[in-house]
Amino acid sequence: MVAEIIAVGTELLLGEILNSDSQFLARELSKLGINVYYQTVVGDNEERLTQTIKTALSRSDLIITSGGLGPTHDDITKETLAAAMGVELKLNETCLHDMEAYFARLNRPMVQVNVKQAIMPVGCIVLKNNNGTAPGGIIEKDGKIAIFLPGPPNEIVPMYQESVAPYLAAKSEEILFSKTLRIIGIGESNVEEKLSEFMQNSTNPTVAPYAKTDEVTLRITAKCKNEEEAERLIAPAEEKIRSVLGDAVYGVNDDTIFAAVCRLLKEKNMKIAFAESCTGGLLAEKLTGVPGASEVLEQSFVTYSGAAKHDLLGVNEVALSEFGAVSEPVAYEMAEGVRARSGADIGVSVTGVAGPDSDEKGNPVGLVYIGIAGKNGTTVKKFTFAGTRERIRTRACVNAYAAVREYLMAL
Ligand code: ATP
Ligand code: MG
Repeated sequence: MVAEIIAVGTELLLGEILNSDSQFLARELSKLGINVYYQTVVGDNEERLTQTIKTALSRSDLIITSGGLGPTHDDITKETLAAAMGVELKLNETCLHDMEAYFARLNRPMVQVNVKQAIMPVGCIVLKNNNGTAPGGIIEKDGKIAIFLPGPPNEIVPMYQESVAPYLAAKSEEILFSKTLRIIGIGESNVEEKLSEFMQNSTNPTVAPYAKTDEVTLRITAKCKNEEEAERLIAPAEEKIRSVLGDAVYGVNDDTIFAAVCRLLKEKNMKIAFAESCTGGLLAEKLTGVPGASEVLEQSFVTYSGAAKHDLLGVNEVALSEFGAVSEPVAYEMAEGVRARSGADIGVSVTGVAGPDSDEKGNPVGLVYIGIAGKNGTTVKKFTFAGTRERIRTRACVNAYAAVREYLMAL
């Protein structure tokens, strides 16, 4: 089935709002294995909208519009679509009743202009709007399907999920089902090199790197009839990748490195403590974002100044003045200091130059030291990250977690 998405709204053409509805629809349709060949944005103009709809109907089996279902005179999508398809409009009593109930629930009077929203194309499948007043609809005519949906994201998303997805799933014979493997501690080019032949030879499922800012991911995608079959197709590909990359695969789908580290700490019944300089609390923020973090996080220090590093972590003042705050000895002492003072099993330190300028010792922007202290001793890793202040801080954070994971797995 070939589909086409039409986003209606002058605001979109003026660049005032981002076309997130089309992005959402495109992503959802691809999950169902429906090919989207065209996406159009058109203003609230009857003539141009008619033209756009007619063109879409001439080349696609399914068209989905978003926006322009409101009660005001500039909302013309439904009327224009019905006219272009040669379908009459008529007051739909059920829709009117639902709308009255909606207003009653909100304790607001229903104004006359809203009645327009209950006028629907004759014979269309009505899509209930549980988050607004405008119902959506599905028109089936001459072998074509046209679906009109409201513009506000908090209305279109639930309406799609509740009504459109099941409708379309029943129509299409094939679905696309993906599983993402999350990889850390090995670069993208390295992954490519190890798996390029395998990736090139994979057809169903396909295996491809999937762009993510701070990590490498591989997406395995199967085209098939149902989820069970997809899992059967995906399993051997996943096994192959895991056998090549080993422990570098830390999780699947929506997993995060922070949750993976949290799990490992729990498994080993260990507590962690952080001493952060350039990341300013980011490590603690990421771990506390994981449910159940309280079982593994003991304490976290943000020690930005030299004095704080000395007073709170016991970093030697001579080391600070001789080597500077961004140095291997200081990262080492910070990690040991936070471990000793907090009583945690693992102490982690991060100190670096986030930029935009180099530090007083002349260290370059992006230089970061990450220290890990634990019962197997203390290690410090040196990194040089490129990018903006924000990028350097996030990469320092992700790499600190990667280092902790490596340390924990070796225990
Ligand atoms: P309403 O009943 O609120 O008028 P509507 O279905 O008529 O809804 P529009 O008038 O086209 O939709 O848009 C209403 C609001 O929905 C916009 O101001 C915008 O915030 C959001 N919106 C519309 N289209 C899109 C889109 N393609 N992507 C993201 N948001 C959108
Ligand atoms: Mg509107």
